[in-house]
Amino acid sequence: DSADYDSEVESVCPFCGVGCQISLKVKDGRVKYVEGIDGPANENRLCVKGRFGFDYIHHDHRLTKPLIRREGAPKGLNVDPGNWGEVFREATWDEALDFAAKGLKGRGREVAGFGSAKCTNEEAYLFQKFIRQGFGHNNVDHCTRLCHASSVAALMENVGSGAVSATFNEIENADVAIVIGSNPIENHPVAATYFKQFAKRGGKLIVMDPRGTALKRHASHMLQFRPGADVSMLNAIMHVIVEEGLYDQGYIDRFTENWEAEKAHLAQFTPEKMSEICGIAPEVLRDVARTFAGAKGGMIFWGMGVSQHIHGTDNSRCLISLALMTGNVGKPGAGLHPLRGQNNVQGASDAGLIPMFLPDYQTVTDDGVRSAFTEVWGSGDFSAEKGLTVTEILDAVHHGDIKAMYVLGENPAMSDPDVEHAREALAKLDHLVVQDIFLTETANYADVILPASAFAEKSGTVTNTNRQVQMGRPAVPPPGEAKEDWWIEVELAKRCGLNWAYETPADVFAEMALNMKSLSNITWDRLARENAVTYPSLSPEDPGQPIVFGDGFPRDGGRAKFTPASVIAPDEAPDADYPMILTTGRQLEHWHTGSMTRRSAVLDAVEPEANCSLHPSTLRKLGVEPGGMVRLTTRRGSVEVMARADRAISPDMVFLPFAFVEAAANILTNPALDPYGKIPEFKFAAVRVEAA
Ligand code: SF4
Repeated sequence: DSADYDSEVESVCPFCGVGCQISLKVKDGRVKYVEGIDGPANENRLCVKGRFGFDYIHHDHRLTKPLIRREGAPKGLNVDPGNWGEVFREATWDEALDFAAKGLKGRGREVAGFGSAKCTNEEAYLFQKFIRQGFGHNNVDHCTRLCHASSVAALMENVGSGAVSATFNEIENADVAIVIGSNPIENHPVAATYFKQFAKRGGKLIVMDPRGTALKRHASHMLQFRPGADVSMLNAIMHVIVEEGLYDQGYIDRFTENWEAEKAHLAQFTPEKMSEICGIAPEVLRDVARTFAGAKGGMIFWGMGVSQHIHGTDNSRCLISLALMTGNVGKPGAGLHPLRGQNNVQGASDAGLIPMFLPDYQTVTDDGVRSAFTEVWGSGDFSAEKGLTVTEILDAVHHGDIKAMYVLGENPAMSDPDVEHAREALAKLDHLVVQDIFLTETANYADVILPASAFAEKSGTVTNTNRQVQMGRPAVPPPGEAKEDWWIEVELAKRCGLNWAYETPADVFAEMALNMKSLSNITWDRLARENAVTYPSLSPEDPGQPIVFGDGFPRDGGRAKFTPASVIAPDEAPDADYPMILTTGRQLEHWHTGSMTRRSAVLDAVEPEANCSLHPSTLRKLGVEPGGMVRLTTRRGSVEVMARADRAISPDMVFLPFAFVEAAANILTNPALDPYGKIPEFKFAAVRVEAA
């Protein structure tokens, strides 16, 4: 009822990559409630996070003034976010920005930056420009490294573009869909509603996951394969497609290369042999192969269960090959869709917040590309060498090569694998600038904290998993003296000697469009009018293309490539000391490191406590009742956490969400990296589980 609020503002949900459009209802200067509106991805729907996860913006813990660490105050997880006075002192903006800049300016390669997929496209663009133009190198990254970096590596290699080939809504036109390594009912809940409707209409939904996720109830096939055995299972399915001649030779001839090598490689992966590795019966593998190859339109969706392995890039290579050999790219109801996690991880990556690519995935090693950017930027030549990734940057801190960091909206003290290693690195820095809305675990290590704005307090565009660029708008002002992130970046850049003269985010967007073909025909004014445009957009009137690659791929010769993948075992095999498998992830009510959702009253009430999931038989063996405490120990550390009984998880596994600082999952996780995407193996660590 409009009497319930003073104003309403249309914006975009700040949580997952679905990018639901919302209306924020404001009363007395506060967001009172949120409703879904008719965005292209959500068509009025919202999940519990979008509906109830907004009041963190009004939480008492919000940072409202710049803070500078008191002389001699020790760094570490010792600061109460509601009572920080012994560790930090308040400062004016001028003092804090001068102090922040003094510790960064002129330090070249000693500086690195972590930007954020929680910020807008304009803020991501400014952040990568700040590091490149200001310090002359590419040591800038963000949480895509911990998310879909391996998927993007495989997509760039084989398809020529890191973005999805079709929107998830295109499942409406499919007759078969694979969802692998993804738990969309919890992690992309509105996308999952489309998947469920697809199954209800008779679409064949093939779910593949070592955990029996809730989507299993809607599946025609549920392949609960052994953790880490993705390549063996997928290669066996493709083996059957080759063996039975079910591939689309016309499509392969017209649009691909390296097919003969792929075909020859697959010969050894018989379902019978692979069944021993992946644990799926040969006849099921054959049935899935026939079902997918027989689709008129087949889509493949995947999540972190695919990407967060040392063989994450190989997993994605297999999925790409499966789509290509069956001709399931570039037509209605078909496509490749890595479901993006953060609300703006697609946009932040598009905007160049990665160490090897400038905006639009233009490579930093290309002289022509770099000079096109320095021409627009007016100054500041920067290195042709690819920069360091998130985990490599923290290693470089340990080695003494990086001594100062600017961290905007990321929380590596919670989100990095082997988090003690990350925390020690943060403590070692001689200058850490943190820009955030809360005193996060990472801010506990800061020398200076710059209070920033939440999504509902600023203007800016974000890009969802569907390639839809959407307009975010401010509904309320930032609290106290907190500022919009783009403003802070500009002021810091000026103090570091950069000649930046942006007055609004629209100015930044206009500059981005100069060197980003993906933004052709997309302008700030257009987004302000239309709320969303999908890229690529072929004309100022075109709402954008939901399906791409119908007439070839953005690679030399226009052809996609098959890259064969071999079976590689997970880095850390279970043994007598650590006999079980730990896997980590999100759960419906909480977002990533918990800094926002644990401060949202409804979400915190629904899921107030750190928890893990174990099979009932495992709990019985341990002598632990559901709700009792267990201790999880890996080679990196130990946490104690409440255990829930979950029949969907196999008896040799434990699932631990990573949102809870009191039982931080990343104390336990393995930092071993995929060699291509440099993504850590969050989804597999050898663990010992005991009654606590
Ligand atoms: Fe927000 Fe994702 Fe839920 Fe939509 S599905 S409301 S974008 S968290």
